[in-house]
Amino acid sequence: MRTLTLGDRGKEVSDVQKRLHALGYELGNEGLDGFLGPRSQLALRAFQQERGLLVDGVLGPNTWRELVEAGCALGDRLLYLRVPNFRGDDVLALQVKLNLLGFNAGPERGIFDGPVERALIDFQRNAGLPSDGMVGDDTLAKLDALRKAESGREGKKIPDRDEGFARATSLAGTVIVIDPGHGGQDAGVISASGRKEKDLTLAAGLRLAELLRAEGSRVVMTRRSDQTVPLYVRTDAAETAGADYLVSLHFNSHSDSAAAGAAGYFFQRSHYYSEHGARLSDYIGAEVGRLSSAGFIASLGRNFAVLREPTGIAVMIEPLFLSNPTDDALAGRADYVERLARAVVAGFARYLARA
Ligand SMILES: [Zn+2]
Repeated sequence: MRTLTLGDRGKEVSDVQKRLHALGYELGNEGLDGFLGPRSQLALRAFQQERGLLVDGVLGPNTWRELVEAGCALGDRLLYLRVPNFRGDDVLALQVKLNLLGFNAGPERGIFDGPVERALIDFQRNAGLPSDGMVGDDTLAKLDALRKAESGREGKKIPDRDEGFARATSLAGTVIVIDPGHGGQDAGVISASGRKEKDLTLAAGLRLAELLRAEGSRVVMTRRSDQTVPLYVRTDAAETAGADYLVSLHFNSHSDSAAAGAAGYFFQRSHYYSEHGARLSDYIGAEVGRLSSAGFIASLGRNFAVLREPTGIAVMIEPLFLSNPTDDALAGRADYVERLARAVVAGFARYLARA
């Protein structure tokens, strides 16, 4: 799937339009014409907004996957534990039902993993069904019969998925995945002065890895050179490493060059969010914010794949806006990478000391 932007046309665009239409998004006169015009882009943006994605009107891998997942309703297909895991809104609906009924189906990520299977088998046993771990017609019927229990659900937060994960009080012994954003063909943001996001994230990531290793952490990097790494290869690296934490490094940009400051991101999807992710983002953001002309803006909940997929605690940090001339100049200072890497370590250590 190539990345689709305004003005693109073809079968892939028709497919996207079909999916958006099926989800109830208004495509206007353009309809299913296979042309990604302004109306289709507006629908795409609305979809991104609603799903907690980056609202850029561009169809990249993250939005594409979300679009495919959004099309799955509970009962459309037989769900069970397999590799790769089933993902989608049907799995999400299943988790919500099971959690609501008191069976611990884990964080509501919409991924059919081990905890979901255990909760499902537990439910089946309780409901007097064959406990085969498969969501067939009988299981669906039982779940539907209990649908009434869903009322009063609005806005309720369920316990954080990271509960019990943040036991460490120091960096020693923790497994940390560092994800320098972009790379290779994907330069990320390029500032007016020609500075590339991919170079900055890599330099800072490599230095951060050295500092964390010196603290006794086991560090895994999603890339160590200027190479193209697909999004889901990055998240798989975190799973393979058994990461306690994932730190994704990016830099911000905005069409308004006055926008400045540091921002952090943690996983959030509708009512569910990672409490520890938010906290870690706050601590790192506070330290990193000192290196931007506008300080720390906020920690924001997002449904980015890099935040959603890892079972550990994941944050994305954007230390400053490369589109801001003052911040861009700061990023160009000889000691910037060193200071940034040290700020991330300081935030991490403070988080662990207080978590
Ligand atoms: Zn980026």
